[in-house]
Amino acid sequence: MIGMPGCVFCRIIRGEAPAVMLYEDELVAAFLDIAPVAPGHTLVVPKYHAERPEELPAEYLCAMMKAAALLAPAILEATGAEGYNLLVNAGPAAGQVVMHVHMHIIPRRRGDGMRAIHVPGERRIVSHEELRPVGEAIREALTRIKGR
Ligand code: AMP
Ligand code: ZN
Repeated sequence: MIGMPGCVFCRIIRGEAPAVMLYEDELVAAFLDIAPVAPGHTLVVPKYHAERPEELPAEYLCAMMKAAALLAPAILEATGAEGYNLLVNAGPAAGQVVMHVHMHIIPRRRGDGMRAIHVPGERRIVSHEELRPVGEAIREALTRIKGR
């Protein structure tokens, strides 16, 4: 499942394209991002070609999170970063460019100038009444999806 023609991450996993590899097991590989937003910016990639997390067998999802939890402290220790963001861009609308699922580990420092999702002033707290219909629609969709 790692032989999708034209997929750069499949090629890296197969050893056909270069990467600075940090970690590998049966299910995932982790290597440095070629265009880091901070030193130590890492990608955790399943050894299974799928575009989005929901297309992955559960064992690969677990392995990705386990690898991220293992690597993050090592990345912080090695780079002196104080925290990190775990990020998956799913779909071009969310900024996905490489169409093989991957989780970014982005090392962070106070005052590094990178934006967080919780930028104060750009969001507002809404009432539960306003939230409720969205919640209902998602729970209904969940029931449909689980029934498939
Ligand atoms: P995304 O926007 O989530 O699809 O991010 C794709 C990431 O893959 C970007 O941060 C790129 O810098 C990175 N990337 C693309 N090609 C390579 C490569 N050959 N080796 C390492 N990282 C790569
Ligand atoms: Zn691939």
